[in-house]
Amino acid sequence: MPIASVLGHREIATRLLAELRIRPSHAYLFAGPRGVGKAIVATSLVHAMMCERSPGENFCCTTAHCPVRLAPQTERTRARAGDSDAPRCECCSACVQIATGVHPDFTYISRPAGRSEVLIDQVRELIARLGIRPSRSPVRMAIIDDAEALGDPAQNALLKTLEEPPGHAIIIMVTSSERALLDTVRSRMRTVRFPALQAADLEAILAAHGVTDRARASALALLARGSAANAVALADGDEPPMKELLDALSHAKSIDFARAQSLAQEFFANRDAAAGNFELLARLLEEVLCYKLLKTDFVAFPPEARSKLVSLADSLEVDAIAKCIDAAVRATEAVVQNANPRMQAENWWTIAGHAMRGE
Ligand SMILES: [Zn+2]
Ligand SMILES: [Zn+2]
Repeated sequence: MPIASVLGHREIATRLLAELRIRPSHAYLFAGPRGVGKAIVATSLVHAMMCERSPGENFCCTTAHCPVRLAPQTERTRARAGDSDAPRCECCSACVQIATGVHPDFTYISRPAGRSEVLIDQVRELIARLGIRPSRSPVRMAIIDDAEALGDPAQNALLKTLEEPPGHAIIIMVTSSERALLDTVRSRMRTVRFPALQAADLEAILAAHGVTDRARASALALLARGSAANAVALADGDEPPMKELLDALSHAKSIDFARAQSLAQEFFANRDAAAGNFELLARLLEEVLCYKLLKTDFVAFPPEARSKLVSLADSLEVDAIAKCIDAAVRATEAVVQNANPRMQAENWWTIAGHAMRGE
């Protein structure tokens, strides 16, 4: 994505690009909440630095549906760039190589699907590649996404590179949990903090995603808690198990430990699912609280969800809702910092049951 069209963090992106071109730090840590676009900015910077036709803020390809320019995520770009039915694209070969993960001077690593950590072998290969002089660009760049999933051995392996980086190397680590990184690693990087996105930016992202009804866009923007990823998932209706969690919430008053265990097993078995679902619970309950206190309507929800939310609001005390929200926010943080997701979930449903019964 061109920096000129990065929504929400344009100022940060422009400032960083100017810095990278004149006097780059060798290692950056992009920190901030999940789904606010840190990795998009990182990838945009790589394009801006390595594009061979129009390096800088704008993008070399202006074709209406350029898969490289428009796709926010590397994985998705990879899929679409290989699609023979894709509209003609005029990207320079360096930008295509960056997007498809084969540029000789750019390495992108992240936690492999289904794994809880970035693998040490991925890190070793990245370190080895950073040591080689760049062959196409003036610099060699690496993005380490999901950096909170670097185990201690992987972080220690990176220390030397961070301490004495090759002059041509620029590393960008992207994380939603700075505290999961060792102090020794963190202190060797320049930290750039990304705030949650403003509602206006989320509305613009939703509009670009095809949400044309403004009332719905602003309702979704509020629900998304500053995250573009949440906003888009909500708009697509494939927000993870909203219906099931809402059902479980409706019966949480009578929950026992066995039921808490089975919910934990079903929806909170791994870190990603658990973090997402705790966030979802917090969002649903915040909506319930707003409805109860302010009589705001549930514009963003389908009718069957709406009626469940209304009956939750009617049957629960403000205090109980607030307790549940607070516990869900704390559980999300704990899970992101590697606490056992299932235990956090068992604990949360137990707390919710007590709170809802007024105990
Ligand atoms: Zn280009
Ligand atoms: Zn293109």
